[in-house]
Amino acid sequence: MLTKKLPPLQSFLSLVSRHTSYVARQRYDVIVVGGGHAGTEAAAAAARVGAETLLVSQKIQTIGALSCNPSLGGVGKGQLVKEVDALDGLCGRAGDWAGIHFSILNRSKGPAVWGPRAQLDRQRYRTFIQSELLSTPRLTVLEGSVEELLLSETNPEEPGTHRVTGIRLANEGQSISASSVILTTGTFLSGSLFVGQSETPGGRIGDAPSSTGLSHTLRERLGLRVGRLRTGTPPRIMKDSVDLSLAHIHPPDSHPTPFSFLNTHTRCKPEEQLPCYLTYTTPGVDRVVKESLHLNCHIQQDAKGPRYCPSIESRVLRFPGRQHQVWLEPEGVTSDLLYPQGLSMTMPPDIQLRLIREIPPLHRAEIHTPGYGVQYDFVCPTQLSPALQVKSTQGLFLAGQINGTTGYEEAAAQGLWAGVNAARSALSMPTVALSRTESYIGVLIDDLVSRGVTEPYRMFTSRAEFRTSLRPDNADLRLTLKGFEEVGCVSPLRYQEAVRVRDSLKEAQEALHTLTLSSPKWRKALPGICMSEGKNTLLTGMVMLQYNNVSFEMLASAFPESLLHHMEFAQRLKIEAVYKPHLSLSQEVREILDRVRPSTLGAATRLQGMTPAAIVHLLNYVRSAG
Ligand code: FAD
Repeated sequence: MLTKKLPPLQSFLSLVSRHTSYVARQRYDVIVVGGGHAGTEAAAAAARVGAETLLVSQKIQTIGALSCNPSLGGVGKGQLVKEVDALDGLCGRAGDWAGIHFSILNRSKGPAVWGPRAQLDRQRYRTFIQSELLSTPRLTVLEGSVEELLLSETNPEEPGTHRVTGIRLANEGQSISASSVILTTGTFLSGSLFVGQSETPGGRIGDAPSSTGLSHTLRERLGLRVGRLRTGTPPRIMKDSVDLSLAHIHPPDSHPTPFSFLNTHTRCKPEEQLPCYLTYTTPGVDRVVKESLHLNCHIQQDAKGPRYCPSIESRVLRFPGRQHQVWLEPEGVTSDLLYPQGLSMTMPPDIQLRLIREIPPLHRAEIHTPGYGVQYDFVCPTQLSPALQVKSTQGLFLAGQINGTTGYEEAAAQGLWAGVNAARSALSMPTVALSRTESYIGVLIDDLVSRGVTEPYRMFTSRAEFRTSLRPDNADLRLTLKGFEEVGCVSPLRYQEAVRVRDSLKEAQEALHTLTLSSPKWRKALPGICMSEGKNTLLTGMVMLQYNNVSFEMLASAFPESLLHHMEFAQRLKIEAVYKPHLSLSQEVREILDRVRPSTLGAATRLQGMTPAAIVHLLNYVRSAG
């Protein structure tokens, strides 16, 4: 069931003005700077942990805005959304509320690498996030631009170590104190926008960059290493100028799968979902790109762009003569616009129009807003601890694009974790970490703080060594219980639901183990099943469920008295059964391997704490992977 009822627009607007007209106090436990995907999760998480929290963002209206693509999730990224949801974050429920086209990517592969994804209605997504924040206890939202961090020297005899004590707002604005400050300035830190040969200051189209004061504080006063990255976005196209009959229709899944563990269905009914369309570039596109390179200053800059989300210029230059996919995606239920994914570009607007008209369904297309590029400062994340706190500055936390990542999901995941730790630090509780063995969030943070970034970082399932156990379906069991019992960011309601799921799954698995029959009896109970085991072999229901062609539904209809009441978990039980043989390393052994990362089997054998059984499993794994 969807849990969130949105207020009618009128009361929503009054909520906004109530929160923006004044700041009730001069001191907060936590101040979050920036209301993008990192900042909104950070502010909500800090408040859930119990901190009095202030979220300051340049414009209330753009809190929760999707700067680029109107979609959430995907392979690797969907895992992050599920984990943020399991820790009681916002983006999963917002996706369920705003989604207009749901699909599970990678379905032909194993469920561990399925990628839950949704196209979103931009307006609905933003409204949901704003409404959630404005009704979160202990959270105040303030419209304003932060100009400077307030700092004190922690030890005058050790120059270079600081403590953050608050923020100062722009335009001679007030100072507000806090024990922790989280910066989530996204693409806004010393941001510049590029179209054709023009470069203008900005963090996103229509939005000013973050003040130079903030960049100066980070570089000069705190001495942090800061780099420069870039990204870009495609032109938005008028839907009624596109001939969609010339593109391939791509329908959504017939049954939308919600992101959130709290939801059994999405707001959008199956039949209300909108399709996407697929088309391809032509040689004319290559020609326009090559002819206009001298008019395109973004593409000539040194700053690194996102390798896995390249501009059309980069794709053409890297793979000349190739046809490239272009997805035409809806921007919302009532939106007149289409988002052409794959056509991010920064040439002058008249040339953008020439380029898109080289693609058959776009022959007569009209551009609503031209594509553009953005370059921005990021802070090299190896200067952070696993709590996302700047090592040399007590109380200062960073999350999102400012740490060199790209994507809403990566930002949301870091935001939540920075929010948790900033709040715990402000409330004099020890900071907490997530390991690579228990979550994609742990993988993301560990990659950032221990390896750093040389180009915008995005999540892939291949980055997670333990992906067979870090599945989208079990994020609640991995994180919700810990989130309540050890971290303090999960509500009692969600915790009770996770406990119910854990206990019910355990009960169902026990019922499957108890159901032990000989293979002839199984053949009789499940006619048509193909089994090679001899007649004296005893098999449990759990083992039977590992067969490709056996579903929990089949077992439940054969043994209704013991299994029918567990039908709610049919899919989860099947996935658990399939992965059981692969999950043979204990948590302790996984942590040892993760910490030491032996490069040979021999080196693994010599590690303290490794068991002979674990070595055999490793050997089997190496053989099967090789
Ligand atoms: P943002 O969503 O950028 O939010 C930053 C927030 O901070 C904003 O609300 C801003 O108003 C506020 N803020 C900034 N400075 C201050 C200040 N001093 N005081 C108060 N408030 C402040 N992602 C992809 O995955 N693929 C892409 O291809 C891609 N292309 C992009 C193209 C463009 C042009 C842009 C702008 C973004 C693109 N993104 C892309 C990135 C995606 O938007 C980000 O990854 C994501 O939004 C990062 O979230 P964030 O919370 O870190 O920052």
